[in-house]
Amino acid sequence: MTRPIQAIVHPSALVNNLLVARQAAPTAKILAVVKANGYGHGLLRVAKALEECDGFAVLSLEEAVRLREAGFAQTILLLEGVFEEVELAVVAEHQLSVVIHTQEQIEWLKRAWSPVRIDVFLKLNTGMNRLGFSPEAFPQALAALQTCPVLGRITLMTHFACADEAAGVSEQCARFNALTQALALPTCLANSAALLRNPETHGTWVRPGIMLYGASPFAEQRAADLGLEPAMSLVSKVIAVQRVKAGARVGYAGAYTAESDKRIGVVACGYADGYPRHAGSGTPILVDGVRTQTLGRVSMDMLYADLTQLPNAGIGSPVTLWGENLPVEEVARAAGTISYELLCARAERVPFVEA
Ligand SMILES: *Cc1c(COP(=O)(O)O)cnc(C)c1O
Repeated sequence: MTRPIQAIVHPSALVNNLLVARQAAPTAKILAVVKANGYGHGLLRVAKALEECDGFAVLSLEEAVRLREAGFAQTILLLEGVFEEVELAVVAEHQLSVVIHTQEQIEWLKRAWSPVRIDVFLKLNTGMNRLGFSPEAFPQALAALQTCPVLGRITLMTHFACADEAAGVSEQCARFNALTQALALPTCLANSAALLRNPETHGTWVRPGIMLYGASPFAEQRAADLGLEPAMSLVSKVIAVQRVKAGARVGYAGAYTAESDKRIGVVACGYADGYPRHAGSGTPILVDGVRTQTLGRVSMDMLYADLTQLPNAGIGSPVTLWGENLPVEEVARAAGTISYELLCARAERVPFVEA
């Protein structure tokens, strides 16, 4: 038997979640964010399921070229633009779109020559303070950009820091509108949270990421209540069973002490598979489809599940670490992190299966 862990990707969930995005933002074009290997689901697998979207957003030139060479004809945006001047030749050759967020990138574009024009998304820093031109620098950046011979279409873009929180988008949105309203150029603002909650941010393009993979962008609202379906189920099996007496300690550092006699399943999944080591005893887990909890410390290749209330579970019992009937958000919360990190962390050694 091969090691039983698998990342099952559900293309039908991706299709469903794209539809949810369309229904929430019916007038906007959808730039599906597929960075980080499609949030850990596999770039081309995700792109194929989402082929009805209007564009894809990625980080690296290599990802962008892979999408273009696989035959995707829609907009492909490099979210951080190019990192070196020489990359602009590849951008032009494959008709990619680039974010422009530094003066240096404008200088590169000014010097570039190509028979095809390059579409740019000019990024404004409206309060996230990560990438983009400050409101003061923006008018000059726009003017400089407009002198570039290879310039194609300009779209104005910003990114929200708190769209998923009570603070919301209003301040950043107001700053963006004040600078751009008079310009009548296409716009691109919303991540998943703003797409779902702030129709005033929709503009020409929306940029959903996490929602397409079926996780909720909001701490207080479940994905299922938003109509989203998890696109990945991380599954494995019980490979050993231990019976321990009350008082016995389990796993590295004896981190868990049995408060009563326990039956414990050893599951073939550890932090080297991408399961978070910080998920302590009590993290939800499904065995034979029934919700129970992990016990003790997650090790590199294994973790423990409490089978005391599951007398029929044993070696070979199927385990769901997250996915169908166990939102990845819940496991993330137990590990003090967010769903994004767990999905992206799927290790190379965990094989993909589509179902
Ligand atoms: C990752 C990313 C997104 C997608 O954000 P979600 O919260 O996953 O919807 C959108 N825009 C930018 C610039 C990003 O880096």
